[in-house]
Amino acid sequence: MSTSKKKILIADPDDELIQLLQKEKEASSYIIETAKTGHECLSKINSFQPDLILIEMMLPEIHSMEILRRIKSDPHKKHIGVIVTTAYLMMQNYHAAIHLGCAFFLEKPFAPEEAFSLFKQYFEHKLHPEPFSGQQSTLKGAHCYLPKMHSANSYIKFWGTRGSNPVSGPDYVRFGGNTCCLEIRHKDDLVIVDAGTGIRPLGEELGKFNPKKINLLISHTHWDHVAGFPFFTPLYDPECEITIWTPIGFEKTTRELFTEMLAYAYFPVRLDDIKAKLIFKDIEVGVPFHIGEIFIDTDYAFHPGATVCFKFKIDKTTFGYATDNEFLLGHHGSPKLIAKDSPLIKPYRRMIQFFKTCDYLIHEAQYTPAEYLTKVGWGHSSITNATALILLTEMKEWIITHHDPKHTDQDILKKMQMQYDVFDEVQYACRPRVAFDGMTIPL
Ligand SMILES: [Zn+2]
Ligand SMILES: [Zn+2]
Repeated sequence: MSTSKKKILIADPDDELIQLLQKEKEASSYIIETAKTGHECLSKINSFQPDLILIEMMLPEIHSMEILRRIKSDPHKKHIGVIVTTAYLMMQNYHAAIHLGCAFFLEKPFAPEEAFSLFKQYFEHKLHPEPFSGQQSTLKGAHCYLPKMHSANSYIKFWGTRGSNPVSGPDYVRFGGNTCCLEIRHKDDLVIVDAGTGIRPLGEELGKFNPKKINLLISHTHWDHVAGFPFFTPLYDPECEITIWTPIGFEKTTRELFTEMLAYAYFPVRLDDIKAKLIFKDIEVGVPFHIGEIFIDTDYAFHPGATVCFKFKIDKTTFGYATDNEFLLGHHGSPKLIAKDSPLIKPYRRMIQFFKTCDYLIHEAQYTPAEYLTKVGWGHSSITNATALILLTEMKEWIITHHDPKHTDQDILKKMQMQYDVFDEVQYACRPRVAFDGMTIPL
């Protein structure tokens, strides 16, 4: 055996590790050089001609596996021993390294003396790769952080995000086709907003738990907000009490409207034959009320008839919900052009104040600016006018719902892109999300 010192190249970008290895008392028995990158490592292999390399698997610039491959396929270098180190021990990497001729796979973190013990074994021809032990080593004394699911019984869930009328078919699978219905759940309190066709699958889901008290808020009685009502399973549970809250309309009471909707000509079960106990209550617009720990406030939406938009405060979260709201009626300009003191926003001041305290707003943006040119007075906002509301309320988070039935998934994605562009143009940091049937947001 030669008495000259063996040469070891340590290729690792970690200065701290290199210093620790160099300080180790065994270090003086070897000639040690270091490299921090793949290129440096390759050039030191040529100039320094090490006997052994300790190499970090994910070496910057050139991966250690490539360096290993080059060493082992070069007849002048293949005698060089290679020990690969990593903090990310994966079976595939381990097998690839051993297959390429790596002498040992050393898992990080390791003590310096452990590395020197391996060097000694290598030069005594006693070092052999151990079987892969990655999984076992992770299990050893493993402590798994299991987050507490505070929000498991406190969330909102969209059961219908379509406006005007339900849609179905391959063009609507991403965002869904059911009309408006939102479930608000907080501990034992359950509030449903609107009874669009989305309330049918919600009712099926609730059927599994047989809730005995349900509060249903109806923003207004247009078809897309009530069409699912007769198909709501809890209506047929005699032990269930359903309180239906509606704004006071100008034509008929909600009971009268629902009685007409459930006439024999339209549906086989009449309102009087509904088994659940139905209680009709008026929403007095602007008068806050609460259902359990869900605090509710309302304001008029800009939409035909007596339509309301909502503000919910649940625990620390406040959010607004306006599915049908034509903000800035007849405005076709850029949202940037509307100053805070513009006479144009005078009729909307109260609404701006109303939503200003929200953490996020769920609000429609049914039409593109081009579509809105021919839809003025239909009761829905253009993308740009809805953006103006976001700017004026200084809202940071916006979830868009009440999608136009003519808009396919592709159209909605294009609208979202347009929405982002509008925000970039007005230089406002907001990246709205688009609601879809099934979207759930923890509270
Ligand atoms: Zn609607
Ligand atoms: Zn409507």
